[in-house]
Amino acid sequence: MARITLSNLAHSYLPNPQGPGDFALKEMDHVWQDGGAYALLGSSGCGKTTLLNIISGLLRPSQGRVLFGETDVTDAPTAARNIAQVFQFPVVYDTMTVRENLAFPLKNRGMDAGYIRDRVAQIAQMIGMESELGRKARGLNADAKQKISLGRGMVREDVNAILFDEPLTVIDPHMKWELRTQLKQLHRQFGHTMIYVTHDQTEALTFADKVVVMYDGRVVQMGTPQELFDTPAHTFVGYFIGSPGMNLFDAEVAGHAARVGGAEVPLGAAYPTVAGRAQIGIRPEFCRPGREGPLPFAIRRVEDVGRHRIVRGEVMGRPVNAILPEGQPIDAGADRLALRPDRINVYADDWRVSPLAAAGEAA
Ligand code: ATP
Repeated sequence: MARITLSNLAHSYLPNPQGPGDFALKEMDHVWQDGGAYALLGSSGCGKTTLLNIISGLLRPSQGRVLFGETDVTDAPTAARNIAQVFQFPVVYDTMTVRENLAFPLKNRGMDAGYIRDRVAQIAQMIGMESELGRKARGLNADAKQKISLGRGMVREDVNAILFDEPLTVIDPHMKWELRTQLKQLHRQFGHTMIYVTHDQTEALTFADKVVVMYDGRVVQMGTPQELFDTPAHTFVGYFIGSPGMNLFDAEVAGHAARVGGAEVPLGAAYPTVAGRAQIGIRPEFCRPGREGPLPFAIRRVEDVGRHRIVRGEVMGRPVNAILPEGQPIDAGADRLALRPDRINVYADDWRVSPLAAAGEAA
């Protein structure tokens, strides 16, 4: 297992990149801790696969270094990096049995037969294929084949890291949940460094200790699911994570208040004067429609989604959502929106602005 360091890393697929727009990965410096479970999350085209391929050695970065522990592996081929990979589509040997497929990476390394038998049994149980160990892979459906690929990816205990590239895409929804939970358990048990690429926030948030959110070739935030919820570092994190995502309002921010249109919205802390485009962001969970509150609110629709209700409405002609916990009534005459001041984040040109330290508090 290894800590992975990305130092001054950037990548362009063009031979002579002219500016940031020509880079699929913009310059980044990051350390991924040994034994961490990371999800690489972002919408299509943001650079997730490019970054994963650089870490695995399938792609050489046009700039910067990749280190596993203290070893510079930038120029090392995939085979020399001692990693396991699971791709979106199954990679199995059709002529081999399930058992032989799972045992393959261990046999290749000359592991002892007893160890292989026990380890294969353990992995087979994890992927729910104990009863099919003797079957040839050829006759199995895509779901089962992908489970074998996952099992093969995890069978070795001595790898530096396990990289997953959208591995559950072809798996049926119920099994998805089960495998995700098992992957997490396996991570707890063996402590491998795992990097899991997905564009599905539920997958990312349930699998990872740390979610790495990418947007337009950059890592915009690396944080726990709670940090991404509470303090999104970039407006993209605010609206990409959450269902629905964060509400954003153009604002003028000064001290303890923001002006949105003509309305004054109290903030939970004091802020410096914001240069550039200023916005405030608040998650729907902390918005309450009612007869009081700083913003005018027109309810358009209420959706009951089981555990809570989503109130979809408008503030000054722009769509805004509120989430009401189960059992909380909606006032039929609600025409205002109250916002919890301590849950408001302030943004300058899409990046979060830290509040000024309160008097007596360390900066
Ligand atoms: P997806 O979820 O769709 O796989 P992604 O986040 O993994 O997307 P990448 O595949 O890393 O994104 O692509 C990042 C950018 O680099 C995109 O603009 C893509 O068009 C471009 N790109 C990817 N591979 C190549 C390539 N081989 N040659 C040129 N451009 C590429």
